[in-house]
Amino acid sequence: MNHEQSKRILVTGGAGFLGSHLCEQLLAAGHDVICVDNFFTGSKANVSHMLGETRFELMRHDVTFPLYVEVDQIFNLACPASPIHYQHDPVQTTKTSVHGAINVLGLARRLGARIFQASTSEVYGDPRQHPQTEDYWGHVNPIGIRSCYDEGKRCAETLFFDYHRQHRLLIKVARIFNTYGPRMHPDDGRVVSNFIVQALKGVPLTLYGDGSQTRSFCYVDDLIDGIRRFMAAPDDLTGPINLGNPVEYTMIELTEKVLELTGSKSEIRHEPLPSDDPTRRCPDITLARSALGWEPQTPLDVGLKHTIDYFDELLRRE
Ligand code: NAD
Ligand code: UDP
Repeated sequence: MNHEQSKRILVTGGAGFLGSHLCEQLLAAGHDVICVDNFFTGSKANVSHMLGETRFELMRHDVTFPLYVEVDQIFNLACPASPIHYQHDPVQTTKTSVHGAINVLGLARRLGARIFQASTSEVYGDPRQHPQTEDYWGHVNPIGIRSCYDEGKRCAETLFFDYHRQHRLLIKVARIFNTYGPRMHPDDGRVVSNFIVQALKGVPLTLYGDGSQTRSFCYVDDLIDGIRRFMAAPDDLTGPINLGNPVEYTMIELTEKVLELTGSKSEIRHEPLPSDDPTRRCPDITLARSALGWEPQTPLDVGLKHTIDYFDELLRRE
């Protein structure tokens, strides 16, 4: 345990992929953690190893309804993040982002608590500026199949900045770019989990479109480190701030890496590119580097190996 002053901290979406890693890190730093989740995409299994800790509390709750707890800080991560999950019930996705933000912001205002928002690179849409800097306003379809997520997150950002201006709330808005690692949902359709699970099962890797679209992948430990540095940064650093790995790969390159690291003989099967799928995405992290002294440390090969080990064990247990 290090010597941070102990705080009571609420993590919404705490039983999800990123949330469970964040809860772990906060507990390890000596804080009391309340993890709130409705288990839509998260699971008790992700946090079961923390349930015995007296400083950890798990609450089943949907953030679209008001929440009454007493805490010093709030991390708002509740929202399905993978396209198949957020498109499953798009109305609920928008409600989670927008009503959820209103509820946690109201809570933060009552408590005078500092509040973090897990925003996303999706606020840039299918960007016309590359790499994306925080002052780019984006290129977003307001009525497409990704809009429930993209516009929901954009509206949440608006709410955070209006609470900041109108009510002087201490806000921290991070735009998170594609992050991967252990505890990703094996069926959530995201590219890293899909390719690894397919490779380990020896079934074809589903490459959408011609595979020339790019993403940049940040390992979960690096991302959580960035989030925590941001939350601890001076009050006037509100964001938005990009957190992600600036090393860009095409999806073809990702298939090659996964096949090499798993030693799999799986074939590649081309499938249609989903609509509104961004063609390029890569963060400019100049601000995070200078303001937080942060940049990702984990090379893709290393992070992929950890993730492959995780899924390998998970599949053996099935
Ligand atoms: P995830 O789906 O694993 O986690 C989301 C969690 O929120 C789940 O545990 C889910 O059950 C919970 N949840 C969903 N709706 C809820 C509701 N109405 N009330 C309470 N809980 C609810 O996804 P993740 O990858 O861990 O993403 C966490 C956050 O980070 C999300 O807000 C996401 O938009 C953001 N983000 C993630 C990435 C990424 O690459 N992982 C990138 C950009 C932004
Ligand atoms: N993708 C793919 N095969 C898959 C899943 C995704 O080729 O099995 C592609 C997808 O079309 C996109 C990229 O991988 O171009 C990243 O997709 P993901 O859903 O992981 O994240 P997002 O599109 O939200 O960045």
